[in-house]
Amino acid sequence: MNSRKQIAMNAVLQAGELCQLVQDEMVSSDSIQKSDRSPVTIADFGSQALICKAIDDAFPEDIIVAEENADSLKKNSVLLERVTDYVNQFVNSDDSKFGDESTEMCENVSEVNVCDWIDRGSGDVGSSSFWTLDPIDGTKGFLRHDQYAIALAYIVEGEVQLGILGCPNLPHKLDDSNSDRGCLFVAVRGDGTSIYNTGDGRYLGNVQVSENASRLAESFESTHGDSNTHSKIADQLGLNQPPLQIDSQAKYGIVARGEASLYIRLPNPTYPDYRECIWDHAAGLIVVEEAGGTVTDANGVSLNFLSGRRMVNNRGVVATNGMLHEQVLSLISTQ
Ligand code: AMP
Ligand code: MG
Repeated sequence: MNSRKQIAMNAVLQAGELCQLVQDEMVSSDSIQKSDRSPVTIADFGSQALICKAIDDAFPEDIIVAEENADSLKKNSVLLERVTDYVNQFVNSDDSKFGDESTEMCENVSEVNVCDWIDRGSGDVGSSSFWTLDPIDGTKGFLRHDQYAIALAYIVEGEVQLGILGCPNLPHKLDDSNSDRGCLFVAVRGDGTSIYNTGDGRYLGNVQVSENASRLAESFESTHGDSNTHSKIADQLGLNQPPLQIDSQAKYGIVARGEASLYIRLPNPTYPDYRECIWDHAAGLIVVEEAGGTVTDANGVSLNFLSGRRMVNNRGVVATNGMLHEQVLSLISTQ
């Protein structure tokens, strides 16, 4: 697991750098939010290409189940050229922050290379082992220059063994406005959850959930959950701080390091049939569990990562510091 961990940490850091570069080069976040979604598309594809390439170089047999594929990119030569330019800036840079494993040098990255790397993520969920990747989780947060995450997990026989969450915009300390930004959460089954600084790969420490009941985290996007019910549950738990509304799996990192006691994601009443995607939760789940917390669906059922790209047998998600879990599930059942 150690070499997979190093490869994954380096790849997620590099993908985060690409995403930040794309974000820095956005002309104006205002115009982008209204009409042009190309920055997020470029960053999504670029991030997936870099991470799939890194895994493929080191473990050519590994299966990758990733959110994107290159079908639409192959039909858009302007976009493909831009994605290839960005990927080129990173593929041959030998700046591994963790370990000395370097990926294969590849002189001229072609558009075909980029599409092949992206499509390396079109593997199928299987019972032995596979990776699952969200190259940019929280795309709406990315467009707002707010929170987003690069989420990569390695699953063996249905159990997440390794999870990496790259959160380039997340402050080291959420409630300190002067805090440095950029957190890489790394969790290995049985080995705890650590945080590194995304800029230089510096180790920042191990994290543990907090026993103190503080506040609830939920999605920034009101359509991605049921915020009315979340608030009722927070009241019934006696949490007096307002909820933290944050995009992406950064919410799992926030619970893992004790800045929120729980993250609730009940199905939005407008979309009762919505089923969560595996890459939206696998990395976050192990980050919280290895920090001492508990993650289930809203009915207390374990998240099933073997039912396909979507968790068809689960409803919503609840991640807590562990102590609150049963109480939260029981409150949910009475809403
Ligand atoms: P978050 O930033 O936590 O809201 O999560 C972003 C993720 O929400 C995206 O990756 C989507 O896969 C997912 N999503 C999209 N629509 C819904 C929905 N109706 N309910 C729950 N999640 C959704
Ligand atoms: Mg996502």
